Amino acid sequence: MKSDIEIAQASKLKPIHEIAAQVGLSAEDIEQYGKYKAKISLDVYRRLEHKPDGKLILVTAISPTPAGEGKSTTTVGLGQALGQLLENTDQNAMICLREPSLGPSFGMKGGAAGGGYSQIVPMEDINLHFTGDFHAITSAHNLLAALIDNHIHQGNALRFDVRRIAWNRVLDMNDRALRQIVVGLGGPANGVPRESGFDITVASEVMAVLCLAQDEQDLKERLKKMIIGYNADKAPITVADLGAEGAMAVLLKDAIQPNLVQTLEHTPALVHGGPFANIAHGCNSVIATKMALKLADYVVTEAGFGADLGAEKFFHIKCRQAGLSPAATVVVATIRALKMHGGIDKSALATPDAEAVREGLSNLSKHIENVQMFNVPVVVAINQFPTDSPEEIAVVTDWCKENGIPVALSEVFTKGGAGGLELAQQVLDLVNTRPGSLMFLYNQEDTIQVKIETIVREIYGGDGVQFTSKAQTMLKRIDEMGLSHLPVCMAKTQYSFSDNPNLRGRPEGFTITIRELKISAGAGFIVAITGDIMTMPGLPKVPAAMNMDLLAEGKITGLF
Ligand code: ADP
Repeated sequence: MKSDIEIAQASKLKPIHEIAAQVGLSAEDIEQYGKYKAKISLDVYRRLEHKPDGKLILVTAISPTPAGEGKSTTTVGLGQALGQLLENTDQNAMICLREPSLGPSFGMKGGAAGGGYSQIVPMEDINLHFTGDFHAITSAHNLLAALIDNHIHQGNALRFDVRRIAWNRVLDMNDRALRQIVVGLGGPANGVPRESGFDITVASEVMAVLCLAQDEQDLKERLKKMIIGYNADKAPITVADLGAEGAMAVLLKDAIQPNLVQTLEHTPALVHGGPFANIAHGCNSVIATKMALKLADYVVTEAGFGADLGAEKFFHIKCRQAGLSPAATVVVATIRALKMHGGIDKSALATPDAEAVREGLSNLSKHIENVQMFNVPVVVAINQFPTDSPEEIAVVTDWCKENGIPVALSEVFTKGGAGGLELAQQVLDLVNTRPGSLMFLYNQEDTIQVKIETIVREIYGGDGVQFTSKAQTMLKRIDEMGLSHLPVCMAKTQYSFSDNPNLRGRPEGFTITIRELKISAGAGFIVAITGDIMTMPGLPKVPAAMNMDLLAEGKITGLF
Protein backbone atom coordinates (compact mmCIF):
# COMPACT_ATOMS: atom_id res chain seq x y z
CA MET A 1 0.00 0.00 0.00
CA LYS A 2 1.14 3.56 -0.73
CA SER A 3 2.25 5.84 2.09
CA ASP A 4 -0.15 8.41 3.54
CA ILE A 5 1.50 11.25 1.67
CA GLU A 6 1.53 9.33 -1.63
CA ILE A 7 -2.19 8.64 -1.29
CA ALA A 8 -2.88 12.27 -0.40
CA GLN A 9 -0.77 13.61 -3.27
CA ALA A 10 -2.52 11.33 -5.79
CA SER A 11 -5.98 12.54 -4.74
CA LYS A 12 -7.99 15.06 -6.71
CA LEU A 13 -9.30 17.79 -4.45
CA LYS A 14 -12.40 19.86 -5.12
CA PRO A 15 -12.12 23.66 -4.93
CA ILE A 16 -12.98 24.66 -1.37
CA HIS A 17 -15.97 26.79 -2.41
CA GLU A 18 -17.60 23.60 -3.75
CA ILE A 19 -17.09 21.90 -0.37
CA ALA A 20 -18.58 24.97 1.31
CA ALA A 21 -21.57 24.77 -1.03
CA GLN A 22 -22.16 21.15 0.09
CA VAL A 23 -23.02 22.49 3.55
CA GLY A 24 -25.02 25.44 2.27
CA LEU A 25 -22.31 28.08 2.48
CA SER A 26 -21.83 30.70 -0.23
CA ALA A 27 -18.56 32.21 -1.43
CA GLU A 28 -19.43 35.19 0.79
CA ASP A 29 -19.44 33.02 3.91
CA ILE A 30 -15.87 31.86 3.54
CA GLU A 31 -12.44 33.47 3.41
CA GLN A 32 -10.31 31.40 1.05
CA TYR A 33 -6.73 30.54 1.94
CA GLY A 34 -5.65 29.34 -1.50
CA LYS A 35 -7.71 26.82 -3.45
CA TYR A 36 -8.34 24.15 -0.85
CA LYS A 37 -8.60 25.84 2.54
CA ALA A 38 -10.97 28.45 3.89
CA LYS A 39 -11.96 30.09 7.14
CA ILE A 40 -15.63 30.43 8.04
CA SER A 41 -16.81 33.66 9.57
CA LEU A 42 -18.43 33.46 13.01
CA ASP A 43 -21.31 35.45 11.48
CA VAL A 44 -22.35 32.20 9.81
CA TYR A 45 -22.95 30.68 13.24
CA ARG A 46 -24.85 33.74 14.42
CA ARG A 47 -27.06 33.50 11.31
CA LEU A 48 -27.78 29.80 11.85
CA GLU A 49 -28.15 29.95 15.63
CA HIS A 50 -31.90 29.27 15.51
CA LYS A 51 -31.40 26.05 13.49
CA PRO A 52 -31.63 22.76 15.41
CA ASP A 53 -28.30 21.04 15.97
CA GLY A 54 -27.23 17.92 14.13
CA LYS A 55 -26.18 14.81 16.05
CA LEU A 56 -22.74 14.71 17.61
CA ILE A 57 -20.69 11.50 17.51
CA LEU A 58 -17.50 11.25 19.56
CA VAL A 59 -14.66 8.95 18.52
CA THR A 60 -12.47 7.78 21.38
CA ALA A 61 -10.34 4.69 22.06
CA ILE A 62 -9.18 2.05 24.48
CA SER A 63 -5.88 2.66 26.30
CA PRO A 64 -3.51 2.86 23.33
CA THR A 65 -0.10 1.56 22.38
CA PRO A 66 2.48 4.30 21.77
CA ALA A 67 1.78 4.01 17.99
CA GLY A 68 -1.81 5.30 18.34
CA GLU A 69 -4.87 3.16 17.69
CA GLY A 70 -6.41 5.15 14.85
CA LYS A 71 -8.89 7.61 16.34
CA SER A 72 -8.21 10.28 13.70
CA THR A 73 -8.24 7.69 10.93
CA THR A 74 -11.54 6.28 12.22
CA THR A 75 -13.03 9.77 12.60
CA VAL A 76 -12.23 10.62 9.00
CA GLY A 77 -13.24 7.17 7.73
CA LEU A 78 -16.55 7.25 9.59
CA GLY A 79 -17.25 10.72 8.23
CA GLN A 80 -16.56 9.46 4.71
CA ALA A 81 -18.72 6.38 5.24
CA LEU A 82 -21.61 8.48 6.53
CA GLY A 83 -21.14 10.66 3.46
CA GLN A 84 -21.54 7.59 1.25
CA LEU A 85 -24.62 6.30 3.13
CA LEU A 86 -26.29 9.70 3.06
CA GLU A 87 -25.57 10.42 -0.61
CA ASN A 88 -28.82 11.18 -2.44
CA THR A 89 -30.65 11.86 0.82
CA ASP A 90 -31.36 15.30 2.25
CA GLN A 91 -28.96 14.63 5.12
CA ASN A 92 -25.22 15.21 5.37
CA ALA A 93 -22.20 14.55 7.57
CA MET A 94 -19.23 16.60 8.65
CA ILE A 95 -16.00 16.01 10.56
CA CYS A 96 -14.32 18.08 13.29
CA LEU A 97 -10.67 17.48 14.11
CA ARG A 98 -7.77 19.14 15.87
CA GLU A 99 -5.00 20.92 14.00
CA PRO A 100 -1.71 19.02 14.10
CA SER A 101 1.31 20.46 15.89
CA LEU A 102 4.67 20.76 14.12
CA GLY A 103 6.53 19.25 17.08
CA PRO A 104 5.27 15.68 16.75
CA SER A 105 5.19 15.92 12.94
CA PHE A 106 8.98 16.39 12.86
CA GLY A 107 9.49 14.15 15.88
CA MET A 108 8.01 10.69 15.70
CA LYS A 109 4.29 10.43 16.10
CA GLY A 110 3.33 11.04 12.52
CA GLY A 111 0.64 13.37 11.28
CA ALA A 112 -2.75 13.97 12.77
CA ALA A 113 -4.74 14.15 9.58
CA GLY A 114 -5.91 10.52 9.54
CA GLY A 115 -4.19 7.77 7.56
CA GLY A 116 -4.36 5.56 4.46
CA TYR A 117 -7.55 6.23 2.48
CA SER A 118 -9.11 8.12 5.37
CA GLN A 119 -7.31 11.44 5.46
CA ILE A 120 -8.11 15.09 5.41
CA VAL A 121 -6.41 17.05 2.65
CA PRO A 122 -4.34 18.98 1.67
CA MET A 123 -2.43 16.94 4.26
CA GLU A 124 0.93 18.70 3.79
CA ASP A 125 -0.64 22.09 4.47
CA ILE A 126 -2.71 20.82 7.39
CA ASN A 127 0.38 19.23 8.97
CA LEU A 128 2.63 22.24 8.33
CA HIS A 129 1.66 25.91 8.57
CA PHE A 130 -2.01 25.46 7.57
CA THR A 131 -3.84 28.80 7.94
CA GLY A 132 -1.46 30.23 10.52
CA ASP A 133 -3.56 29.61 13.63
CA PHE A 134 -0.64 28.20 15.61
CA HIS A 135 1.49 31.16 14.57
CA ALA A 136 -1.24 33.49 15.88
CA ILE A 137 -1.54 31.60 19.17
CA THR A 138 2.24 31.53 19.60
CA SER A 139 2.38 35.28 18.93
CA ALA A 140 -0.46 36.12 21.32
CA HIS A 141 1.17 33.99 24.02
CA ASN A 142 4.62 35.52 23.51
CA LEU A 143 3.23 39.04 23.31
CA LEU A 144 1.92 38.51 26.82
CA ALA A 145 5.32 37.17 27.95
CA ALA A 146 7.04 40.24 26.49
CA LEU A 147 4.51 42.55 28.18
CA ILE A 148 5.13 40.88 31.54
CA ASP A 149 8.91 41.25 31.34
CA ASN A 150 8.55 44.81 30.10
CA HIS A 151 6.18 45.61 32.98
CA ILE A 152 8.75 44.36 35.48
CA HIS A 153 11.53 46.27 33.70
CA GLN A 154 9.49 49.49 33.70
CA GLY A 155 9.02 49.58 37.47
CA ASN A 156 6.80 46.57 38.26
CA ALA A 157 3.73 48.47 39.43
CA LEU A 158 1.82 45.19 39.86
CA ARG A 159 4.60 43.92 42.17
CA PHE A 160 5.24 40.67 40.30
CA ASP A 161 7.34 38.29 42.36
CA VAL A 162 9.85 37.37 39.63
CA ARG A 163 10.24 33.94 41.21
CA ARG A 164 6.53 33.30 40.77
CA ILE A 165 5.82 34.24 37.17
CA ALA A 166 3.32 31.68 35.84
CA TRP A 167 3.77 32.44 32.15
CA ASN A 168 6.44 30.76 30.01
CA ARG A 169 7.13 31.44 26.37
CA VAL A 170 5.98 28.99 23.66
CA LEU A 171 7.18 27.59 20.34
CA ASP A 172 5.54 25.03 18.05
CA MET A 173 8.56 22.75 17.99
CA ASN A 174 9.99 19.89 20.05
CA ASP A 175 13.03 21.58 21.53
CA ARG A 176 14.24 20.19 24.85
CA ALA A 177 17.09 22.69 25.06
CA LEU A 178 14.58 25.44 25.74
CA ARG A 179 12.76 23.77 28.64
CA GLN A 180 14.52 25.90 31.22
CA ILE A 181 16.14 29.22 30.41
CA VAL A 182 17.22 32.45 32.05
CA VAL A 183 15.90 35.66 30.50
CA GLY A 184 16.97 39.25 31.01
CA LEU A 185 20.72 38.61 31.06
CA GLY A 186 23.18 41.28 29.99
CA GLY A 187 22.66 44.21 32.31
CA PRO A 188 19.91 46.65 33.27
CA ALA A 189 19.05 47.61 29.69
CA ASN A 190 17.98 44.02 29.00
CA GLY A 191 15.39 43.70 31.73
CA VAL A 192 15.31 41.84 35.01
CA PRO A 193 17.04 38.44 35.03
CA ARG A 194 14.79 35.56 36.00
CA GLU A 195 14.30 31.87 35.34
CA SER A 196 11.78 30.94 32.70
CA GLY A 197 11.23 28.31 30.02
CA PHE A 198 9.51 27.34 26.81
CA ASP A 199 6.48 25.09 26.35
CA ILE A 200 5.18 23.78 23.05
CA THR A 201 2.42 25.97 21.60
CA VAL A 202 -0.29 23.33 22.06
CA ALA A 203 0.39 23.50 25.81
CA SER A 204 -0.31 27.24 25.90
CA GLU A 205 -3.36 28.26 27.90
CA VAL A 206 -4.16 30.58 24.99
CA MET A 207 -4.72 27.44 22.90
CA ALA A 208 -7.12 25.98 25.49
CA VAL A 209 -8.88 29.34 25.80
CA LEU A 210 -9.32 29.66 22.04
CA CYS A 211 -10.68 26.12 21.88
CA LEU A 212 -13.23 26.64 24.66
CA ALA A 213 -14.34 30.18 23.75
CA GLN A 214 -17.84 30.52 22.34
CA ASP A 215 -17.17 33.78 20.45
CA GLU A 216 -14.88 36.84 20.36
CA GLN A 217 -16.32 38.33 23.57
CA ASP A 218 -15.97 35.07 25.48
CA LEU A 219 -12.41 34.78 24.14
CA LYS A 220 -11.52 38.13 25.69
CA GLU A 221 -13.26 37.31 28.97
CA ARG A 222 -11.27 34.08 29.22
CA LEU A 223 -7.97 35.75 28.30
CA LYS A 224 -8.60 38.32 31.04
CA LYS A 225 -8.93 35.61 33.69
CA MET A 226 -5.63 33.88 32.92
CA ILE A 227 -3.25 33.94 35.87
CA ILE A 228 0.21 35.11 34.81
CA GLY A 229 2.00 35.30 38.12
CA TYR A 230 1.78 36.12 41.79
CA ASN A 231 2.78 39.23 43.72
CA ALA A 232 4.82 39.52 46.89
CA ASP A 233 1.72 38.64 48.96
CA LYS A 234 1.18 35.54 46.78
CA ALA A 235 -2.01 37.05 45.34
CA PRO A 236 -2.64 36.14 41.68
CA ILE A 237 -2.01 38.66 38.91
CA THR A 238 -4.16 38.22 35.81
CA VAL A 239 -4.10 39.35 32.19
CA ALA A 240 -6.85 41.82 33.11
CA ASP A 241 -4.53 43.44 35.68
CA LEU A 242 -1.98 43.97 32.93
CA GLY A 243 -4.65 44.99 30.38
CA ALA A 244 -3.27 42.74 27.63
CA GLU A 245 -6.43 40.97 26.49
CA GLY A 246 -7.30 43.45 23.74
CA ALA A 247 -3.95 43.17 21.97
CA MET A 248 -3.94 39.40 22.36
CA ALA A 249 -7.44 39.18 20.88
CA VAL A 250 -6.28 41.29 17.93
CA LEU A 251 -3.64 38.68 17.16
CA LEU A 252 -6.27 35.93 17.42
CA LYS A 253 -8.84 37.65 15.17
CA ASP A 254 -8.55 35.14 12.33
CA ALA A 255 -7.39 32.17 14.38
CA ILE A 256 -10.77 32.07 16.13
CA GLN A 257 -12.50 31.24 12.83
CA PRO A 258 -12.72 27.52 12.02
CA ASN A 259 -10.87 26.12 9.00
CA LEU A 260 -12.75 24.24 6.30
CA VAL A 261 -11.01 21.45 4.37
CA GLN A 262 -12.14 18.15 2.83
CA THR A 263 -11.44 14.44 3.16
CA LEU A 264 -10.06 12.30 0.31
CA GLU A 265 -13.75 11.65 -0.53
CA HIS A 266 -14.72 15.34 -0.31
CA THR A 267 -16.53 15.10 3.03
CA PRO A 268 -16.43 18.59 4.57
CA ALA A 269 -14.18 18.86 7.63
CA LEU A 270 -13.58 21.62 10.15
CA VAL A 271 -10.05 21.46 11.52
CA HIS A 272 -9.60 23.93 14.32
CA GLY A 273 -7.45 24.27 17.42
CA GLY A 274 -5.32 21.61 19.02
CA PRO A 275 -4.87 21.76 22.79
CA PHE A 276 -2.61 19.21 24.49
CA ALA A 277 -4.50 16.19 25.78
CA ASN A 278 -2.63 16.06 29.12
CA ILE A 279 -2.50 19.53 30.69
CA ALA A 280 -5.49 20.60 28.57
CA HIS A 281 -8.67 18.97 27.30
CA GLY A 282 -7.42 17.64 23.93
CA CYS A 283 -10.20 18.33 21.44
CA ASN A 284 -10.93 20.73 18.61
CA SER A 285 -12.56 24.09 19.25
CA VAL A 286 -16.06 24.54 20.64
CA ILE A 287 -16.68 27.05 17.85
CA ALA A 288 -15.90 24.45 15.15
CA THR A 289 -18.06 21.78 16.79
CA LYS A 290 -21.01 24.14 17.27
CA MET A 291 -20.66 25.48 13.74
CA ALA A 292 -20.55 21.96 12.29
CA LEU A 293 -23.69 21.01 14.24
CA LYS A 294 -25.51 23.84 12.44
CA LEU A 295 -24.15 22.86 9.03
CA ALA A 296 -24.57 19.08 9.14
CA ASP A 297 -26.98 16.44 10.41
CA TYR A 298 -24.17 14.25 11.74
CA VAL A 299 -20.89 15.53 13.10
CA VAL A 300 -18.04 13.15 13.88
CA THR A 301 -15.35 14.43 16.23
CA GLU A 302 -12.42 13.09 18.22
CA ALA A 303 -10.91 13.49 21.68
CA GLY A 304 -7.22 12.82 22.31
CA PHE A 305 -5.81 9.86 24.28
CA GLY A 306 -7.86 6.89 25.54
CA ALA A 307 -11.46 7.29 26.71
CA ASP A 308 -10.47 7.49 30.41
CA LEU A 309 -8.87 10.86 29.61
CA GLY A 310 -10.17 12.03 26.22
CA ALA A 311 -13.84 11.16 26.58
CA GLU A 312 -14.00 12.09 30.27
CA LYS A 313 -12.59 15.56 29.55
CA PHE A 314 -14.71 15.90 26.42
CA PHE A 315 -17.84 15.30 28.50
CA HIS A 316 -16.94 17.07 31.75
CA ILE A 317 -15.08 20.06 30.30
CA LYS A 318 -16.00 20.71 26.67
CA CYS A 319 -19.59 19.47 26.60
CA ARG A 320 -20.44 20.95 29.98
CA GLN A 321 -19.00 24.38 29.16
CA ALA A 322 -20.51 24.47 25.66
CA GLY A 323 -23.83 22.78 26.39
CA LEU A 324 -23.17 19.89 24.00
CA SER A 325 -24.62 16.38 24.31
CA PRO A 326 -23.15 13.62 22.13
CA ALA A 327 -25.65 11.16 20.66
CA ALA A 328 -23.16 8.29 20.53
CA THR A 329 -19.54 7.38 21.12
CA VAL A 330 -17.37 5.15 18.96
CA VAL A 331 -14.69 3.36 20.97
CA VAL A 332 -11.81 2.37 18.70
CA ALA A 333 -10.04 -0.86 19.60
CA THR A 334 -7.18 -2.57 17.82
CA ILE A 335 -6.18 -6.18 18.09
CA ARG A 336 -2.58 -5.16 18.82
CA ALA A 337 -3.56 -2.94 21.76
CA LEU A 338 -5.88 -5.62 23.15
CA LYS A 339 -3.01 -8.10 22.98
CA MET A 340 -0.82 -5.63 24.84
CA HIS A 341 -3.50 -5.40 27.55
CA GLY A 342 -3.57 -9.19 27.51
CA GLY A 343 0.06 -9.21 28.64
CA ILE A 344 1.92 -9.53 25.32
CA ASP A 345 5.21 -7.67 24.91
CA LYS A 346 5.39 -4.76 22.44
CA SER A 347 7.81 -6.73 20.23
CA ALA A 348 5.35 -9.63 19.74
CA LEU A 349 2.14 -7.75 18.95
CA ALA A 350 2.13 -8.86 15.29
CA THR A 351 1.92 -12.58 16.21
CA PRO A 352 -1.66 -13.93 16.32
CA ASP A 353 -2.79 -14.76 19.85
CA ALA A 354 -6.56 -14.98 20.30
CA GLU A 355 -6.21 -15.83 23.99
CA ALA A 356 -4.27 -12.63 24.68
CA VAL A 357 -6.94 -10.66 22.84
CA ARG A 358 -9.56 -12.25 25.11
CA GLU A 359 -7.52 -11.29 28.19
CA GLY A 360 -7.16 -7.74 26.90
CA LEU A 361 -10.93 -7.28 26.58
CA SER A 362 -10.90 -6.20 30.23
CA ASN A 363 -9.54 -2.84 29.06
CA LEU A 364 -12.19 -2.40 26.37
CA SER A 365 -15.02 -3.39 28.71
CA LYS A 366 -13.99 -0.81 31.34
CA HIS A 367 -13.87 1.95 28.72
CA ILE A 368 -17.34 0.96 27.50
CA GLU A 369 -18.73 0.96 31.05
CA ASN A 370 -17.21 4.39 31.59
CA VAL A 371 -18.81 5.98 28.55
CA GLN A 372 -22.14 4.36 29.45
CA MET A 373 -21.93 5.97 32.91
CA PHE A 374 -22.28 9.30 31.11
CA ASN A 375 -25.48 7.97 29.53
CA VAL A 376 -23.94 7.95 26.07
CA PRO A 377 -24.32 4.73 24.03
CA VAL A 378 -21.26 3.01 22.54
CA VAL A 379 -20.36 1.40 19.23
CA VAL A 380 -17.07 -0.50 19.09
CA ALA A 381 -14.95 -0.04 15.97
CA ILE A 382 -12.20 -2.59 15.41
CA ASN A 383 -9.58 -0.70 13.43
CA GLN A 384 -8.19 -3.49 11.27
CA PHE A 385 -4.44 -3.92 10.74
CA PRO A 386 -2.86 -6.33 8.22
CA THR A 387 -1.54 -8.52 11.06
CA ASP A 388 -4.99 -9.20 12.58
CA SER A 389 -6.18 -12.81 12.28
CA PRO A 390 -9.87 -13.73 11.74
CA GLU A 391 -9.85 -15.66 15.05
CA GLU A 392 -8.64 -12.61 16.95
CA ILE A 393 -11.27 -10.39 15.37
CA ALA A 394 -13.96 -12.96 16.16
CA VAL A 395 -12.99 -12.85 19.85
CA VAL A 396 -13.89 -9.16 19.94
CA THR A 397 -17.03 -9.28 17.80
CA ASP A 398 -18.40 -12.32 19.69
CA TRP A 399 -17.76 -10.66 23.04
CA CYS A 400 -19.48 -7.44 21.94
CA LYS A 401 -22.48 -9.35 20.63
CA GLU A 402 -22.76 -11.39 23.85
CA ASN A 403 -22.77 -8.11 25.78
CA GLY A 404 -25.22 -6.30 23.53
CA ILE A 405 -22.65 -3.76 22.25
CA PRO A 406 -22.90 -2.82 18.57
CA VAL A 407 -19.59 -3.63 16.88
CA ALA A 408 -18.14 -3.28 13.39
CA LEU A 409 -14.87 -4.14 11.74
CA SER A 410 -13.46 -0.93 10.29
CA GLU A 411 -11.35 -1.09 7.15
CA VAL A 412 -11.32 2.64 6.51
CA PHE A 413 -7.52 2.79 6.43
CA THR A 414 -7.29 0.50 3.38
CA LYS A 415 -10.68 1.17 1.76
CA GLY A 416 -11.75 4.67 2.77
CA GLY A 417 -15.45 5.25 3.47
CA ALA A 418 -16.36 1.96 1.78
CA GLY A 419 -14.51 0.18 4.59
CA GLY A 420 -16.64 1.86 7.24
CA LEU A 421 -20.18 1.39 5.93
CA GLU A 422 -21.13 -1.17 8.57
CA LEU A 423 -19.74 1.07 11.30
CA ALA A 424 -21.60 4.09 9.90
CA GLN A 425 -24.85 2.11 9.71
CA GLN A 426 -24.46 0.98 13.32
CA VAL A 427 -23.88 4.58 14.37
CA LEU A 428 -26.90 5.84 12.40
CA ASP A 429 -29.14 3.12 13.87
CA LEU A 430 -28.01 4.02 17.37
CA VAL A 431 -28.27 7.80 17.18
CA ASN A 432 -31.65 7.64 15.47
CA THR A 433 -33.23 5.11 17.83
CA ARG A 434 -31.64 5.61 21.25
CA PRO A 435 -29.36 8.63 21.28
CA GLY A 436 -27.51 9.51 24.47
CA SER A 437 -28.43 12.30 26.82
CA LEU A 438 -25.29 13.35 28.62
CA MET A 439 -25.11 13.01 32.39
CA PHE A 440 -22.13 14.08 34.50
CA LEU A 441 -20.37 12.06 37.18
CA TYR A 442 -19.74 15.01 39.49
CA ASN A 443 -21.47 18.28 40.34
CA GLN A 444 -19.89 21.62 39.68
CA GLU A 445 -20.32 22.50 43.38
CA ASP A 446 -18.27 19.48 44.49
CA THR A 447 -14.81 20.37 45.81
CA ILE A 448 -11.80 19.76 43.56
CA GLN A 449 -10.82 16.89 45.85
CA VAL A 450 -14.21 15.21 45.44
CA LYS A 451 -14.09 15.71 41.67
CA ILE A 452 -10.68 14.04 41.44
CA GLU A 453 -11.73 11.21 43.75
CA THR A 454 -14.87 10.62 41.68
CA ILE A 455 -12.86 10.34 38.44
CA VAL A 456 -10.30 8.04 40.03
CA ARG A 457 -12.89 5.71 41.59
CA GLU A 458 -15.49 5.67 38.83
CA ILE A 459 -13.45 6.08 35.64
CA TYR A 460 -10.06 4.62 36.53
CA GLY A 461 -11.35 1.96 38.91
CA GLY A 462 -8.83 3.00 41.56
CA ASP A 463 -9.17 2.67 45.32
CA GLY A 464 -8.47 6.29 46.16
CA VAL A 465 -6.30 9.36 45.76
CA GLN A 466 -3.24 10.62 47.57
CA PHE A 467 -2.39 14.30 47.47
CA THR A 468 1.22 15.39 48.04
CA SER A 469 1.64 18.23 50.53
CA LYS A 470 2.24 20.57 47.58
CA ALA A 471 -1.09 19.48 46.08
CA GLN A 472 -2.86 19.87 49.43
CA THR A 473 -1.60 23.44 49.72
CA MET A 474 -2.89 24.15 46.23
CA LEU A 475 -6.29 22.64 47.06
CA LYS A 476 -6.58 25.15 49.89
CA ARG A 477 -5.47 28.05 47.72
CA ILE A 478 -7.90 27.13 44.93
CA ASP A 479 -10.68 27.12 47.46
CA GLU A 480 -9.60 30.50 48.88
CA MET A 481 -9.47 31.92 45.36
CA GLY A 482 -13.09 30.83 44.80
CA LEU A 483 -12.18 28.49 41.92
CA SER A 484 -13.43 25.18 43.34
CA HIS A 485 -16.41 25.20 41.00
CA LEU A 486 -14.15 24.56 38.00
CA PRO A 487 -13.94 21.10 36.41
CA VAL A 488 -10.79 19.02 36.74
CA CYS A 489 -8.45 18.32 33.84
CA MET A 490 -6.54 15.13 34.64
CA ALA A 491 -2.94 14.94 33.43
CA LYS A 492 -2.17 11.22 33.55
CA THR A 493 -0.47 8.62 31.37
CA GLN A 494 -2.76 7.44 28.59
CA TYR A 495 -1.31 3.91 28.61
CA SER A 496 -3.03 2.72 31.78
CA PHE A 497 -6.13 3.46 33.83
CA SER A 498 -3.67 3.96 36.69
CA ASP A 499 -0.81 6.46 36.90
CA ASN A 500 1.68 3.67 36.16
CA PRO A 501 1.97 3.17 32.38
CA ASN A 502 3.00 -0.46 32.88
CA LEU A 503 -0.28 -1.52 34.54
CA ARG A 504 -2.19 -2.68 31.48
CA GLY A 505 -5.66 -4.18 31.05
CA ARG A 506 -8.03 -3.27 33.88
CA PRO A 507 -5.81 -2.77 36.92
CA GLU A 508 -7.27 -2.98 40.42
CA GLY A 509 -6.20 -2.09 43.93
CA PHE A 510 -4.20 0.99 42.96
CA THR A 511 -4.25 4.55 44.20
CA ILE A 512 -3.45 7.68 42.20
CA THR A 513 -1.03 10.30 43.47
CA ILE A 514 -1.77 13.94 42.66
CA ARG A 515 1.59 15.66 42.74
CA GLU A 516 0.56 19.13 41.77
CA LEU A 517 -2.44 21.24 40.78
CA LYS A 518 -2.29 23.98 38.20
CA ILE A 519 -4.92 26.64 37.70
CA SER A 520 -6.01 27.37 34.12
CA ALA A 521 -8.48 30.09 35.10
CA GLY A 522 -9.04 31.35 31.56
CA ALA A 523 -9.63 27.93 30.04
CA GLY A 524 -11.76 27.22 33.09
CA PHE A 525 -10.27 24.08 34.61
CA ILE A 526 -7.90 22.88 37.30
CA VAL A 527 -5.14 20.61 36.00
CA ALA A 528 -4.43 17.68 38.32
CA ILE A 529 -0.94 16.38 37.57
CA THR A 530 -0.21 12.74 38.40
CA GLY A 531 3.26 12.18 37.00
CA ASP A 532 6.05 13.80 35.03
CA ILE A 533 4.11 15.74 32.46
CA MET A 534 6.16 17.09 29.60
CA THR A 535 4.99 20.45 28.27
CA MET A 536 7.99 20.80 25.96
CA PRO A 537 8.67 17.45 24.26
CA GLY A 538 12.08 16.51 22.88
CA LEU A 539 13.01 14.93 19.55
CA PRO A 540 13.90 11.22 19.32
CA LYS A 541 17.33 9.92 18.28
CA VAL A 542 16.29 9.80 14.63
CA PRO A 543 13.61 12.47 14.21
CA ALA A 544 11.02 12.11 11.44
CA ALA A 545 12.52 15.35 10.10
CA MET A 546 15.51 13.33 8.84
CA ASN A 547 13.35 11.58 6.22
CA MET A 548 11.81 14.69 4.72
CA ASP A 549 12.74 16.51 1.56
CA LEU A 550 11.48 19.10 -0.87
CA LEU A 551 11.68 18.18 -4.57
CA ALA A 552 11.23 20.25 -7.69
CA GLU A 553 7.86 22.02 -8.08
CA GLY A 554 7.32 22.10 -4.34
CA LYS A 555 6.67 18.37 -3.95
CA ILE A 556 7.21 17.18 -0.37
CA THR A 557 8.44 13.67 0.43
CA GLY A 558 8.77 11.80 3.70
CA LEU A 559 6.03 13.62 5.59
CA PHE A 560 4.52 10.29 6.83
P1 ADP B 1 -4.74 8.36 16.88
O1 ADP B 1 -5.62 9.45 16.37
O2 ADP B 1 -5.47 7.41 17.77
O3 ADP B 1 -3.46 8.83 17.47
P2 ADP B 1 -4.17 7.89 14.10
O4 ADP B 1 -5.46 7.78 13.40
O5 ADP B 1 -3.43 9.19 14.00
O6 ADP B 1 -4.33 7.49 15.63
O7 ADP B 1 -3.25 6.69 13.63
C1 ADP B 1 -1.94 6.48 14.15
C2 ADP B 1 -1.03 5.97 13.05
O8 ADP B 1 -1.43 4.65 12.66
C3 ADP B 1 -1.10 6.82 11.79
O9 ADP B 1 0.19 6.88 11.24
C4 ADP B 1 -2.04 6.04 10.87
O10 ADP B 1 -1.74 6.28 9.52
C5 ADP B 1 -1.76 4.60 11.28
N1 ADP B 1 -2.95 3.73 11.15
C6 ADP B 1 -4.17 3.97 11.65
N2 ADP B 1 -5.02 2.96 11.36
C7 ADP B 1 -4.30 2.05 10.66
C8 ADP B 1 -4.60 0.77 10.09
N3 ADP B 1 -5.81 0.24 10.19
N4 ADP B 1 -3.62 0.11 9.44
C9 ADP B 1 -2.36 0.63 9.34
N5 ADP B 1 -2.01 1.83 9.87
C10 ADP B 1 -2.96 2.54 10.53
